[in-house]
Amino acid sequence: MALWENNVRTVEPYVPGEQPSFPDMIKLNTNENPYPPAPGVAAVLKGFDTDVLRRYPKPDAHELAEQLAKEYNVGFNNVFVGVGSDDVLGTAFLTFFKGRLPILFPDITYSFYPVWAELYGIPYETPAVDEDFRIRKEDYYQMNGGIVIANPNAPTTIAEPLSFIEDIVRHNADSVVIVDEAYIDFGGESALELTKKYENLLVVRTFSKSRSMAGMRIGFAIGSEKLISYMMAVRNSYNSYTMTTLSILCGAESLKDRGYFTKTVERIKETRKRSVPELEKLGFKVLDSSANFLFVSHEKAAAKEIFEKLKEKHIFVRYFAKPRIDNYLRITVGTDEEMDRLFAALREIL
Ligand code: PMP
Repeated sequence: MALWENNVRTVEPYVPGEQPSFPDMIKLNTNENPYPPAPGVAAVLKGFDTDVLRRYPKPDAHELAEQLAKEYNVGFNNVFVGVGSDDVLGTAFLTFFKGRLPILFPDITYSFYPVWAELYGIPYETPAVDEDFRIRKEDYYQMNGGIVIANPNAPTTIAEPLSFIEDIVRHNADSVVIVDEAYIDFGGESALELTKKYENLLVVRTFSKSRSMAGMRIGFAIGSEKLISYMMAVRNSYNSYTMTTLSILCGAESLKDRGYFTKTVERIKETRKRSVPELEKLGFKVLDSSANFLFVSHEKAAAKEIFEKLKEKHIFVRYFAKPRIDNYLRITVGTDEEMDRLFAALREIL
C-alpha cells in the first residue's frame, strides 16, 4: 500500500441493480416504470433550444421547485430538489446527522442508508423488523441522533399507516425524522401533511418510479423552511448546480399532467394485483405490497437459484445475499405482458 493511501477515504459502496441491455430482456430488477414519462416531457425534449445550455441552470431549480410546491400545496421554501432521491437522502444524512448519537433505521430497509452513515462517519443502529418484516415503532422511542424510515419499506413492500409514522415523529421531537416515500404513490399514506405540523420531519420522494423518469435523476424533499434551508446550505457548500436545465424543465412538465400520472400508477397497481395470485399458484409467498414491486419467497426452490435461472433467460429480478432476506426475490411490476412472460419462465424453471 502506498503511503498516500493512508489519506484515502475508503468506503464500501452501495451496489445498484445491474443495467443490462439485451434486446429481448425483461428488466424487473430496479423498480423502474414500464411506461414512458408523461407525453409533455417528450415535447419539451423535442422543442429544446440547445442555446439555453450555454447558461448555468437556476441553482434553486426554480421551475421545478415551484411546480412541486404547487402540486403538493406547500411553499417554495419547503421544497428541496436533488439528483434523484439518493442525492436528496445523501444530503439530508450529511446535513442532519452529525454523529453524536446513533441514528436508527430498520435492519431490513434500503441498503444505501448504512452506506451514507459509514461515508459520513455517523454511528447507527438497526432495530430488527419482526418476523413478518414489520417495523416495531417502539424501537424508535429511545435516544437517537436521527431516524430514517422508508414507507412503504424496501425491499419488503410493506407500508405502515400514517398514525404509525406520526407516533414515531411525536416521540422524537429532538431528532430529525426522515421518511423515504420513494414508493408512496403506489400505496400507503403519505406523511406530507405532517410536515406542516412537525418542524423536524422531512419527507423524501422521487421521479424515478411513479413518474417514469429514473434516467432524468430527479428527487425532492418537503419539510419545514428551517429543515430545507439547512439542507440548501450544505448543498451549496459542495455543488450549487446539482440539477441540469433539462431535468428542471422536464420534471416541471411531468408534474403538469396529473391525468397521465394517475393512469400509469393505476395500471401498475392493477398488474400488481393480478400478479399476486399468479405467483401464489406457482408456490410463492408474496408479501402484501404497497409498492411497484413484489417481495416473494418460494416454499421449495431457493431464491438464488431461481434468480440465476431467470437471468439465463434474460429476465432480470433482484436478489440480495443478505441475512434474513437471502431466500427472497424482489420483482418489479412490469407490464402485463412482461409479467406473463415471467410467470411462464417461472413455470418452466420450477
Ligand atoms: N429510496 C428507496 C427506498 C429506493 O428504493 C430508491 C431506489 N433505489 C431510492 C430511494 C433512490 O431512488 P432515486 O435516486 O432514483 O430517486
